Amino acid sequence: MKARLDALRGRIENAGCDALVSMAPPINQYLTGFSGSTSAVLVTAREARFFCDFRYTEQAGAEVWDGYHIEEVADGLAARLGRGLADAGCRSAAFEPDSMTVRERQDIEAAYSNTLTPAPALVSALRCVKDPAECDKIRAAQSLAEGVLADLLDTLEEGLTERELAAAFEYEFKTRGATGASFDTIALFGARSSLPHGQPGDRALKPGDVVLLDFGCRLAGYCSDLTRTYAFGTMPAAWFNEIYDLTLAAQQAALGAARAGMTCRELDAVARRLIAEAGHGDHFGHGLGHGVGIEIHEAPRVSSRSEAVLEPGTVITIEPGIYIPGQGGVRIEDLVVVTEDGCRNLTTASKELRILGL
Ligand code: ZN
Ligand code: ZN
Repeated sequence: MKARLDALRGRIENAGCDALVSMAPPINQYLTGFSGSTSAVLVTAREARFFCDFRYTEQAGAEVWDGYHIEEVADGLAARLGRGLADAGCRSAAFEPDSMTVRERQDIEAAYSNTLTPAPALVSALRCVKDPAECDKIRAAQSLAEGVLADLLDTLEEGLTERELAAAFEYEFKTRGATGASFDTIALFGARSSLPHGQPGDRALKPGDVVLLDFGCRLAGYCSDLTRTYAFGTMPAAWFNEIYDLTLAAQQAALGAARAGMTCRELDAVARRLIAEAGHGDHFGHGLGHGVGIEIHEAPRVSSRSEAVLEPGTVITIEPGIYIPGQGGVRIEDLVVVTEDGCRNLTTASKELRILGL
């Protein structure tokens, strides 16, 4: 935590500011260790202050790193931040524009009697690079979710609905020790697998279906993320085999290419080129991946528009997909840590095409 605070202070100074304020739970968890949902943080060159209301005082005492001064506030966290900035004589206080509501900003500025300075990525750029303890937590979350996958795959039978399967994942996450799902579980059968972020519904499983599962859990404050696609009951059709093999080849090419020093755009292009050359460019409409950590989607975005450079310790997903409307889709997603000369896969679930229920 001290290293994070030191690094943050360097970035505040580089941004030409003299303070950071945050009311965003993911940022506050990263900076202080607090896992609750409502808090406020104020950091200057000299001060590190943590504010919460009565509901969280005991929890904050147990969780917040002792480099922060904890204070219970009765009348509004935003106003307290504003007064804190004014009291400390801050002239240029920064905030992350992606992580503050308009109302929070207005309330802070009213009490500060000054305007805040938007500083994009001030904390999120730090959060990109995970330390070994963070990597261990992400791997533990991924491994818990993989255990759930392995067990549930053996229970699939005709008639099970997408909704029931998604609920089973989330039940198992909690009973096995996770806080819960890291996002709403995606379980899609048959032609509905062409919806990249489709919502599980009442569609019942039947032989010949594609089964697309995208899921993750949150454990010790960190998320996991994993997608696998299967066939159910019978040998899949030729079109499915073709896009499965192509998606897997694209994913393996990207896994083989990922290393520190390359840009996210370059990594995205490795998979995208293969898929486009095979004539499915229009069927891969999302980015190759995204950062994962305290949040399920965090920096960096691994897309054709991102010039962000991968650094050792960056945790990203690599998840190409091919989606044919009305027919079905395939996505294969692993979670990796970028290293100097490659990447370390935190995922072990098999990617060999499996026909479930046989
Ligand atoms: Zn996913
Ligand atoms: Zn993902």
